[in-house]
Parts: sequence; C-alpha cells; structure tokens
Amino acid sequence: MAKAFEQPIYVTRPLLPDFTDITERLRVVWNSKQLTNFGKQHDELSHQLKEYLEIDHISMFSNGTMALLLGLKALKLTGEVITTPFTFPATVQALDWNNLTPVFCDIDPVTFNIDADKIEALITEKTTAILGVHVFGNPCDVEKIQAIADKHGLKVIYDGAHAFGSKINDVPISSFGDMTMFSFHATKLFNTIEGGALTYNNPALDKSLDLLKNFGIASAEEVVVSGLNAKMNEVQAGVGLEVLKVIGEERSKRYIIKKAYEENLADIEGIQILTTLEGESSSYQYFVIRIDEAVFGQSRDAVHKELQKYNVFARKYFYPLCSDFEWYSDLPSARPENLPHAQQAVQQVLAMPYYGDLPVSSVALICGIIRELHITQKSLSQI
Ligand SMILES: *Cc1c(COP(=O)(O)O)cnc(C)c1O
Repeated sequence: MAKAFEQPIYVTRPLLPDFTDITERLRVVWNSKQLTNFGKQHDELSHQLKEYLEIDHISMFSNGTMALLLGLKALKLTGEVITTPFTFPATVQALDWNNLTPVFCDIDPVTFNIDADKIEALITEKTTAILGVHVFGNPCDVEKIQAIADKHGLKVIYDGAHAFGSKINDVPISSFGDMTMFSFHATKLFNTIEGGALTYNNPALDKSLDLLKNFGIASAEEVVVSGLNAKMNEVQAGVGLEVLKVIGEERSKRYIIKKAYEENLADIEGIQILTTLEGESSSYQYFVIRIDEAVFGQSRDAVHKELQKYNVFARKYFYPLCSDFEWYSDLPSARPENLPHAQQAVQQVLAMPYYGDLPVSSVALICGIIRELHITQKSLSQI
C-alpha cells in the first residue's frame, strides 16, 4: 500500500493572489472611506468582467445564489420552470424562493446537462422558463434550448456557476439565453471570497436588478419595489480585481494538471473522464470522473472511501440529487423513475482534487491509488 499524503488534499483550494497586492488594494479601499454601495472597486471590476466575459451588461451581487434569485425575480416568472435535478441546491432553491415550481428534466448521459430532447414533453400552460446549468463548465445544448424557448415563448436562464470563461465555438457562454449567473465563491475558479453576477443582453434589466439588490431604493426619497440586500461590497470587488490578474496563470496550471490526470487514468477500465465536446472550451473549474462499477469492479463510493484513507478528499458532486430533496416528494417530475440518467450519474460521479498548486506528482499518486483498487479487484475476481 502506498503512503498516505501528510497533508489532506481537498477537491479545491481558493485561488489566492499575492498577499501584498491584497493589502495594497485594501489600503485603497480604506483611503476611499467607501466600503460598499457601488464604489470605485465595484465599478472597475464590473468594467473588467464585461471585457473578460465579453458581454455588454453585468450586475454583480453578494453571492451567486442571490444573483440567480433576483434574476428570476427581475424576469417576472410565474408557475413552472423546467430545470435539472443534477445541480447544486442553490439552483432549485432560487426557484423555491420565487414561488416557482421546478419541473425536473432528466440529464444527457454524456454531458450531464439538462437533456434538451426531453424538455418539450414537460412544457405545460404554466411553464414560463427553462433553467439550465452548465455542469462542470461544459455548456448546455444552448441552440436547441433556445429554439424550444422561442417556439413556446419561454425565458432561458443559465446557472453558469462553473462556466466562468467557457466558450462554444469561440462564442462566450455569457451571451446565451436571457441571463447567465456566475458564482464567485471562494471554491470557484474566479472568486471574490463570496460573490456572484448576472450577465444579459437586455439593457432594461440594469435598472430592475439595481433596484432589487438594494431594497428597491430608487432615490433618496423613493422606494419602488420590494427588494433585498444583495450588493457586492468594495472589499469583495477589490479582491476580485486582484484574482482576475492571476486567473490566466491558474488556467494554464490547471491545463497541465488536467493532462496529467488524463494520462494517468486513460487506460483504467471503468473510469471515464468528463471531457469538453468538440468546439467547446472548458472553464477548468472541475476535473470529474465517472466510475462504472460493473467494469471498474468497485463503486464510486468505494473509491471515495479508499482515497480518504490516503488523506485525499475527492467529492461526490453533485450529491444528493435535488429532485430527492424531501420537500419535492410530491412533485411527479421528481420521481426517480422519470430521471434514470440523473439517478445513475449521482451514483457514479467523483470530482477529483483540482487546483493550480496541486503537484503533478500528487496527481500520479492519486491515480495510482485508483489503479491499484481496480487491479486488486480484478485479481480477486479471477481467483
Ligand atoms: C456554487 C454554485 C452555486 C451557488 O453560488 P454561491 O455564489 O455560492 O451562492 C449555484 N449553482 C451552482 C451550480 C454552483 O456550483
């Protein structure tokens, strides 16, 4: 048996800019005496993100969940929204908090994104939108989804929390649908500690989102809608400006780690790597494998447990399925028999440690543990 790692290896590590740069940035914020409410850092980050994400309109928030929640509100949706069960809880909770009913659609077994071919059958007279998630940074079938939406007069919203910088045939992911949400949580590729944003093409949304994230305050003496407090503050934005400077380097490092995983795992039967499709470029947000127990000889849960013995903490992501949340137990679309691919994915997927500072030698060791598990199983089954 190989030796366990001395320090625990987690699935991700926040991208931390140089501490001196952060303190310099903080000094600028302190000197300005403005800590929040759309100051200089906020405006500068907003400007730079528009360029980075290649979009004309952006609205920044305290976190990605509030961005999505208020984005759905701004679109004035009602009734039912067709979405995926294979996502982070925030996606469906943003629907819940808008009194919208999720209608769960099964996923595509290759991309793990909402299966565009199964959407139309779920549309009723109550449907007002489709909420897709670009799972692990791989884009949804945006063209097919838009065609369905146009045909039925539906809005399209994307949870792009994993898709910062993803592209489809060189077209930025931020430009599809009516709105895309990005999360800038510490665990995401680009972070502002906590934070998030919406990108969109409709200029009218600028005003409504500004109101919704700031108590509906229109002017010193006017409150015009029932809003919330979901503003991004100056420290968050300042950190974001520093993180943005190092993101290119982080992507290059992750590219090398991705290649190392691919080389080390390529010939292990029953391990499939989730790759980007032709013409798509990845966000390098996660490195995810799928373990087919029948071929590999061990379940995903067994691999997950075995890695922990070596101080490696991979993650069952996403787990559990959102459709299995107790409060959806009465929803017909949440029944497991309607979601066979999602039910399978949730048992097979494992997100591997993936961050720029992860040594390639560690990647080889981690893959060695998985290989050994497979070989042991194989020899056992031959006895
Ligand atoms: C991280 C994440 C969110 C939530 O974003 P926060 O910024 O943490 O609120 C939503 N959806 C998905 C798919 C995520 O991974």
